[in-house]
Amino acid sequence: MQEILRLIPKVDKLLTHKDLRQFNTLLLKKAIYKFLSIYKQELLTTQKVKSLEECIECIQKIIKTKQQKSLKPLVNATGIVVHTNLGRSILSNEILEEVKPLLTSYNNLEYDAIKGERGERYIHLSEILKNLLDTEDVLVVNNNAAAVFLILNTFAKNKEVIVSRGELIEIGGSFRIPKVMEDSGAILKEVGTTNKTHLKDYKEAINQNTAMLFKAHKSNYEIVGFSKEVPYKELIDLAKEHNLLDYYDLGSGFFKNACKQLSKYELSLEEIASLKPSLVSFSGDKLLGGVQAGIIFGKKKYIQELKKNQLLRMLRVDKVTLSLLEAIFSAYLEEKYDKIPTICMLNLSKEILKQKCENLLKFIPNSFNPKIITTQTYSGGGAMPNKPFSSYGVALHYKKAKILEAHLRSFGIIARIEKEQVILDSRTLLKGDELRIQNALLQDIKA
Ligand SMILES: *Cc1c(COP(=O)(O)O)cnc(C)c1O
Repeated sequence: MQEILRLIPKVDKLLTHKDLRQFNTLLLKKAIYKFLSIYKQELLTTQKVKSLEECIECIQKIIKTKQQKSLKPLVNATGIVVHTNLGRSILSNEILEEVKPLLTSYNNLEYDAIKGERGERYIHLSEILKNLLDTEDVLVVNNNAAAVFLILNTFAKNKEVIVSRGELIEIGGSFRIPKVMEDSGAILKEVGTTNKTHLKDYKEAINQNTAMLFKAHKSNYEIVGFSKEVPYKELIDLAKEHNLLDYYDLGSGFFKNACKQLSKYELSLEEIASLKPSLVSFSGDKLLGGVQAGIIFGKKKYIQELKKNQLLRMLRVDKVTLSLLEAIFSAYLEEKYDKIPTICMLNLSKEILKQKCENLLKFIPNSFNPKIITTQTYSGGGAMPNKPFSSYGVALHYKKAKILEAHLRSFGIIARIEKEQVILDSRTLLKGDELRIQNALLQDIKA
């Protein structure tokens, strides 16, 4: 029985084989050991001996899979435009082309080329944002969670921050307001009840040690029915009266003209900026349609204070983020929304969505009995959790929807199941996705 194992090629012989020599040694070693352990088991069970050439081929195959990149493009057929698990907002080729010269050459990230001296990295965004939003100053950090932390740490260390009990939110990925407060050194002062908070609740909680009135966008839930929250405008006025800072953790931010559907239900960045708040922060890769970043705007004196906090050095953004955000904001300034896929997808008309489905149908084998149906999807990205966007999708039928869904997933197509049908929502499908879907549906489905 053990005799057969002696036919396994020696490690040294494989390591120095001419068809394997071109690979990185560590990678090659790992692949050889992996192959040998599989081969050994195989020999013991099947007694099937491989030639040296066959062994080399197997090792090459293992190396190929090890060399595959971990991050891969997927097809988002969920209809949820800002899907956190699928990378939130995507970028357009136009935006990437614009920043390419900046990233493949040296640039003035922190250099004032007119004065010939050190410059400031944040000015690249502050001017353009001041033109978009009537605000005094701007600062950008790594993400919105970092913005919340930096603001609390700068202004409310060992001081009280008043928050409504209805806004003590948890966002996916373990961002919880009470915990962030605690870690930043701020003291959480909850007021009101889960469903109702009045202005007088805030007023009565103000004392000598109060630093800030804090508002958080509820993002992923809604309180409906017998409920009341205090509008941000009233908090700003109250804060001013008591010489306190007001801060709105907005989560997602969008420009009014870019998406009419959103502005029906939510305050736009322009509307919030016009209230002259102390500080507001929002994510760069949610409804804005840019990249991961926390964008802070508001009063100059407060932004100056934030810039003095050592933490900013740890939370600062690099030239990749800044150049992409500058390109995105330029697109907004020029109202060229077609450069921002998130906005384009949110704005797709029902006629276009239906047309996209009709086109997709041409790529789907009849055996799946495909049908165009109306669907309800969400913007995602922490906006309007209860306000569906209506859309169209193609429903596929198969003996077990779960098996078809898993099959599509193994080809990188993320769909959802509803009433035993697999639904491909057209809102988030991109050019070329039809071919990937067709290819997956033409392959054998393993149960
Ligand atoms: C999404 C969100 C955050 C976290 O923002 P990131 O950019 O993911 O760090 C914080 N607060 C609110 C209200 C949010 O919606």
